[in-house]
Amino acid sequence: MDILIVGAGPTGLTAATTLASRGIACRIVERKSEPSELSRAVGIMPATIDALKTLGVAEAFLEEAMPLRKMHILRDERTLAYLDNRGNEFKNRVPLGLPQNRTEGILRDALLEKGTKVEYDLSVNTIISTSEKTEVHFSDNTRAEFDWIIAADGIQSSTRKQLQIQYPGIDLPGKWSIADVDLAGDFDPEEITLDLYGRDNQFTLILPIEKRRARIASSTEDALANMKLPLNIGNVRRTGTFQISIRQAETYRKNRILLAGDAAHCHSPVGGKGMNLGMADAVAAATAIVNGNVDQYSEVRRKAGISVVRKTEIARYLISSGNPLAKAFFWLSVKSISSITPLHHAFMKQWISV
Ligand SMILES: Cc1cc2nc3c(=O)[nH]c(=O)nc-3n(C[C@H](O)[C@H](O)[C@H](O)COP(=O)(O)OP(=O)(O)OC[C@H]3O[C@@H](n4cnc5c(N)ncnc54)[C@H](O)[C@@H]3O)c2cc1C
Repeated sequence: MDILIVGAGPTGLTAATTLASRGIACRIVERKSEPSELSRAVGIMPATIDALKTLGVAEAFLEEAMPLRKMHILRDERTLAYLDNRGNEFKNRVPLGLPQNRTEGILRDALLEKGTKVEYDLSVNTIISTSEKTEVHFSDNTRAEFDWIIAADGIQSSTRKQLQIQYPGIDLPGKWSIADVDLAGDFDPEEITLDLYGRDNQFTLILPIEKRRARIASSTEDALANMKLPLNIGNVRRTGTFQISIRQAETYRKNRILLAGDAAHCHSPVGGKGMNLGMADAVAAATAIVNGNVDQYSEVRRKAGISVVRKTEIARYLISSGNPLAKAFFWLSVKSISSITPLHHAFMKQWISV
């Protein structure tokens, strides 16, 4: 069986690793000339680790990533709630902090060990797709036919566009920002800190991604300038802004091509689920191809996507809305979750599932 994976982000690499774990070779092509040193996603959910265990690659993630067992929520720099998962059933089932480039690096190394090498600096230019076959024209002027293609080519997926699959949704106004920093002073690498401030409910999130490195995210355009919490920053590795789109492809399959990851859905990073959802698509797409049951793929994964997009959108609204009712509801929920154990556990179960 000839299989092509378009894009070597976390989704494409997970699809290739899934195939490799079943002893199936594929081609995986990437438009960039080399792996990215930058990170967008920083959170890996326990459900993703479960999936990676079945592929035999979870160990490296567990060794390197930061288990985020505590969450400190503040309002105007004063503690509103504290969630501590060190002594409960979630102790070893918490989100893990790891820069996306390391997630990609671990998967790439595992793939290489199984004999599959990402072909960098090679783009898919054109796809001719029928129910019988797919013909692909690459940027180096070569062409090849494939039995199946997994399109993991990101939010701007040219595969999705060529197949004329609609990607309806909205683009939110305004920009959010991130900064990746090395810490010079005291820092708890197990603790996520969320500080909400201002009338419009702006926020700063500090999330450990290495022992002395953190991701700062903000609902403003300058994460560092608007941070109110004291944090002893030694070095700023990168800063950036991004816009949030909330979109989902109308179908995840056309002929012999399956969409996965951001090519199929996108939403705000609140809750840290986007990459995890894409990696779950990837496992499902590759498994469906190997097992010969692709017919259910689009319906099943679209449903999973709808659920994550909806929950993420509710969380984003509650965290960042200036609406007094939404704010009151959010604070009440946070207070209840931190003080009532069954609610705390119900929240954790929801959060860590993808
Ligand atoms: C600021 C920010 C923070 C985030 N934080 C989190 C988080 O904490 N947790 C989480 O789960 N998610 C998070 N996300 C979302 C996450 O980054 C994405 O969901 C994830 O990167 C999607 O992976 P992907 O492989 O589907 O797409 P991408 O990572 O975009 O990879 C697609 C790849 O395809 C390649 N490509 C495109 N077209 C072609 C072509 N024609 N031929 C060959 N190659 C091609 C591209 O070069 C690219 O490398 C965050 C997003 C942002 C913006």
